[in-house]
Parts: sequence; structure tokens; C-alpha cells
Amino acid sequence: MMIDYSKYCSNTTRILIPSIARSLLKFVEDREIISFAGGLPDPLLFPINEIKEIVNEILTNHGSEALQYMPSRGILLYLEELRKFLYRNREINTDTSNIVVTTGSQQALDLLGRVLLDEGGYIVVEDPTYIAALNVFKMQRVKIIGIPIDVVGMRIDILEETVKKLGNDGKKIKFVYTIPIAQNPSGVTMSLERKKYLLELAEKYDFLIIEDDAYGMLVFDEHIDTTPLYSLDRYGRVIYIGSLSKVLAPGLRLGHLVAPAPIIEMIEIFKQVTDLHTSAFTQYIAAYAFKRRVIERNIQKMKTIYKLKRDTMIKALEEFLSGLAEWTKPIGGFFIWLKINREIDTDLMLPNAIKRGVMYVPGKGFCINEYCNNTIRLNFSFPSVNQIRLGIAILSEVIRDYTKG
Ligand SMILES: *Cc1c(COP(=O)(O)O)cnc(C)c1O
Repeated sequence: MMIDYSKYCSNTTRILIPSIARSLLKFVEDREIISFAGGLPDPLLFPINEIKEIVNEILTNHGSEALQYMPSRGILLYLEELRKFLYRNREINTDTSNIVVTTGSQQALDLLGRVLLDEGGYIVVEDPTYIAALNVFKMQRVKIIGIPIDVVGMRIDILEETVKKLGNDGKKIKFVYTIPIAQNPSGVTMSLERKKYLLELAEKYDFLIIEDDAYGMLVFDEHIDTTPLYSLDRYGRVIYIGSLSKVLAPGLRLGHLVAPAPIIEMIEIFKQVTDLHTSAFTQYIAAYAFKRRVIERNIQKMKTIYKLKRDTMIKALEEFLSGLAEWTKPIGGFFIWLKINREIDTDLMLPNAIKRGVMYVPGKGFCINEYCNNTIRLNFSFPSVNQIRLGIAILSEVIRDYTKG
């Protein structure tokens, strides 16, 4: 008998759409293809030799702790090194008791979703926003309100109108989720003025802000203000989440959450239920990497290489796609957002691109209300400089052929 396994699956399984980028990643393994689709760091930047030394040192000196069960919130040595790291690099002045170590920052989002949200509640995100965060919020069955963005981030004036209007109907939002620096997928960075305006609104209309700082240390252009909302906040409105994925190695699966004590207490309980604790072994690795200043010593090189790749992509876009599309000019991060000057569906165009050997993520999946059928998210961190030039040239041909028809 053929069993229909879907009948055993929960209703939640029907809510989640698999990330398009993730389901397409399997094509990349198949053959030589230039991929602008993922969001992977350049593996040549992983400090492999240094991590090798560190692992040896840990197993020699701390083997019995690194391989043992440890407290849910994180191991003390790592919490203390992380606190100092956040102070040195992100102006975040906090106590170790306000930090929870998570299994990637993805888990921080998931835990926050469980701790803060009820079915039918309202939350606000940038439109477009990070698909993996959208999926976390969808799982909690909340109503997601998208606020458009421009070159200096979320339109806080539209946010204010929106919360006012909701308030008139007796409704409130729980939080605003934002990626203020080098946003995924748009590459846009929020101005200092908008950050201050957002904080004032949070206090005035009584909501929280979840700040996703995945790219806070990866800003290549100087003179840009990169102060986290967390350190500007005088009201206790901001929950900060960070990650080592983009500045050290995603394979370590290390993220963190900084929040007021009552939130931390709840997160700790849910963390225990979810996975008891994040790997003590990788926490030891990162603690030693912090002690040796591995990230701080590596970051300049990372910025130089990512800046070169961004510049290469912008230059190729100017050369091959002028007049045919518009794109953002990110000051950092991993992504450029491309909008084709025609009402074409980039989802339907994708097989043509793959056939010719390039891959991208159609923009639609990142969007709430904005019209995004004609948009594409382009990743410049993973492909090589040569692949970027060649891939954009091919992509321009694909677009030209497709828009001709
Ligand atoms: C890459 C990325 C992260 C990192 O997720 P991890 O689970 O820490 O690997 C978080 N937020 C955004 C917006 C990202 O692009």
C-alpha cells in the first residue's frame, strides 16, 4: 500500500516554503556553475591553520570540559571572551548575564519567535527581508507587516503611520525585525537618523526591536556610521543578535543574543528544551580565537577581498546591464539587489540562467507586499573575481534574450 505521509505531518509543515536558494544549492554540486545564489563566505578566508592549532591546544588542555555537557546559556570562558569582543568591536557594553550563546544566530531568531510571539499577533519587517527570519516568524503564525526600504534603510515614516493606524484599531506590534547594516537581501544600510527615529518610535508606541547584526563588522567603506541600535538605545528596547558565521566560520554554528535579563531568563528555558546547549567544543574554539584576536587580525583582509568582489560586480553591472536594470550599492555585507526594468518574472527566467551556467535567487521570496517579480538577489562574497565578471556578462545575455521574447 502506498502511504501518504503528508497526512501525518503537522499543519505547520504546510506554512513553510523551503528556501529557494537552499533547494537550488544542490544544482551547484552537480556541475560547474557560477553561483550568485547562496550567502556563503569565501572559504579561502577561513583561518584553517590557526583553528587547527587551537583545536589541538583545547584537546590537550581542556579536553574533558570541551567534550562534556555544559550550561544552556553558554560556557563561562566563551561568554566572557564574547562580552569583551562585542565591547571592542561593536561598542556593546553588556554583562555576561545578558548574553545567551546560540547554535547560529538562526537559533536566536527561532527562540525569540517562540518566546515573544502568539498566533495572530503583529510584527514588522523590512520589505524585502531575510527569508530564514521570515520562515521563523511564519512558524509562529503571526501577521507579518512589511515596510518598504530605500537607500538609507527602512522607511520609518511609513512604519510610524502603520503603527498609528494599527493603534487606532486597538492593535499593537510586538517587535520590528531589522538588519540595519548591509541588509540581506538588499545590501542597504540604515542611516543614523533613521536608527534614532526607530528607537524613539519603539519607546513611544511600546514595541521591541530585534537587531540582526550579521554584517556589522563587514563594512568596507569608511565614514559610514555602523553603531548598533543596541548601543544607541537608552530605553531597553533592543534585542541584539550576532553571529560568527560571516566573520569566522559558519560551520562552527555560533551565534549570540544580547537582551534584558527577563527576556534572557525565558530564552534560557526554551534553549534548554531545544538543544540543551550549543556545542561546548566550538565555544572553546571561538573563545581561543577571541583570545588570539583571530577575527580582528583577519577582518582587514576579509574586507579588502569582499570590497574587491563588490567593486568587480558593480563594475560588471555598469558595463553589461546599464539601462536594462538598476541595483543597490552596498557599503558592506554579501549582497546586491538587482531590479530589471521590465515586468518579467525572474523565477521563470531562472532555468534559462542555469542552462547557461549562472545561478541567482529570484527576489520574490524575500518580499511581503512589494512587487519583486522582476528582482534578483546577487551574492558577491562566494564567487571568484573572474566568475563575477563572467557570470554578470552571462546573466546580462540571459536577461536580454528573455526580455526580447
Ligand atoms: C548570514 C546571516 C545570518 C547568520 O545566520 P547563522 O545562523 O548565524 O549562520 C543571520 N542573519 C542574516 C540576515 C544573515 O544574512
